[in-house]
Amino acid sequence: MKQKTVVITGGNRGIGLSITEAFINAGYFVIVGARQELGLASRFGDQVSFVPTDVRDEAAHRQMVNVAIKKTGTLDLYINNAGFSEWRPIEKIDEKFFDELIGTNLKGAFWGCKAALSVMQDGGSIINISSIAGKRGSANNSAYCASKFGMNGLTQALAKEVGARGVRVNALCPVLIPTNGLIEALKGPFSPAKGDPEGFISKFATDNAALKRLPTGAEVAQMCVFLASEAASAITGQCINVDCGVFPQ
Ligand code: NDP
Repeated sequence: MKQKTVVITGGNRGIGLSITEAFINAGYFVIVGARQELGLASRFGDQVSFVPTDVRDEAAHRQMVNVAIKKTGTLDLYINNAGFSEWRPIEKIDEKFFDELIGTNLKGAFWGCKAALSVMQDGGSIINISSIAGKRGSANNSAYCASKFGMNGLTQALAKEVGARGVRVNALCPVLIPTNGLIEALKGPFSPAKGDPEGFISKFATDNAALKRLPTGAEVAQMCVFLASEAASAITGQCINVDCGVFPQ
């Protein structure tokens, strides 16, 4: 059987690295696009190809798709995971910050979908790593929430647009997962953690999660493997919470 290919933006660390590991274990050839390589080649050898990428640049997405096509002749899966968060009240949001956040989280995913759909055939799929912040607003988080609500809208619209071609488009909406990126964001002056990221995360889990814990990157990755599989062949246009029951819907 031909090896499957997946592009994963931001697959070098955090949740994205868990997704990279899961697809290598599932036998895929993985193409990672991020700004830093961070030892992927020495860790995963020839199962991974790293393409230096700023997701805000449309051409970089086309380059990653081309690597997949060169490798096996098809692109099976595209995962838009790269992104960042930073809490700021609206009066502290200037055009530079807004453009960087929306450009990375939303425009980056948009170009990823466009490049993937230029070659994707029947059976292919796209997964957008969104957030619970794409389903409910929270204070000092307007730009990030706007980016993730946008990502969910992009997911629903494209699922309708390309479904007739047999291509599925879904999103996952995780809640707090203590990656370096999240901890750094929680250390910011306007975050809800008020100087104590670990204490905040622990109290958040106890107070909000039905399971009294928070998900791991590996659990998000396993949902990606499921959504990419034949077992999920009837699922498209969905934005699925991976949140240990923080926001039942
Ligand atoms: P990290 O900060 O740990 O990792 C961010 C990743 O995105 C890195 O791989 C980084 O690579 C990449 N990235 C950031 N900006 C760019 C860019 N301009 N071009 C290319 N790559 C970029 O974040 P997480 O793992 O925590 O988050 C991953 C995704 O999950 C994000 O979209 C985030 O919004 C979402 N999410 C995270 C949650 C959490 O609690 N952690 C909860 C819900 C959603 P590099 O710096 O090398 O470019």
